[in-house]
Amino acid sequence: MLNIGYPFWPSMRFKPRPFITPVRFKCLFCLDCCRGRHVYLTVSDIKRLVGSGHDPQKFLTFSIEGGNIRFVLSVREWDLGCIFHDPGTGKCTIHPIRPLICRIYPFMVSKRPLGVEGEEPVQYKGRMLWLYYDESCPGINSQEGEVITPEEIAELGVKFEEELSRTTFEDVIKVL
Ligand code: SF4
Ligand code: SF4
Repeated sequence: MLNIGYPFWPSMRFKPRPFITPVRFKCLFCLDCCRGRHVYLTVSDIKRLVGSGHDPQKFLTFSIEGGNIRFVLSVREWDLGCIFHDPGTGKCTIHPIRPLICRIYPFMVSKRPLGVEGEEPVQYKGRMLWLYYDESCPGINSQEGEVITPEEIAELGVKFEEELSRTTFEDVIKVL
């Protein structure tokens, strides 16, 4: 299944808008997307974080979903913020090595249409995908932002699906 944003960022706050043509984006560090969300980790993400000296006992937890184990980032108890989020600056303390799904947000990739007005499938590497961005992210359409294309998000989405399919309990144990 490839469905990033829904449900990999399960939040009623995500307001999907069709992502068909390039849009500008610049993170404004409003904190919203790093708090109260489930951030899924692939085995590559876990390996990269452990290899950079981060203690898996502090950053790694899991949930069982539909009979599958899913590895997720730990959150702070007091505000459900990601443990790598700095509440003082609003910034990610591991930005260069952040999880793949964090590189995709505020965009998402789905193998099914969500029923949003104006949505259209895009063909990418032989797959039919529906792309969206989160209208609730204030960094979307920032004039100072970098131009993001549907192709680059589709590429990250396909990579995420492939990496997630390889993220088994046995493989994660090997990198811990
Ligand atoms: S919601 Fe958007 S602007 Fe706010 S921190 Fe997340 S990516 Fe940045
Ligand atoms: S790893 Fe960084 S970008 Fe991802 S949720 Fe945590 S603080 Fe936010």
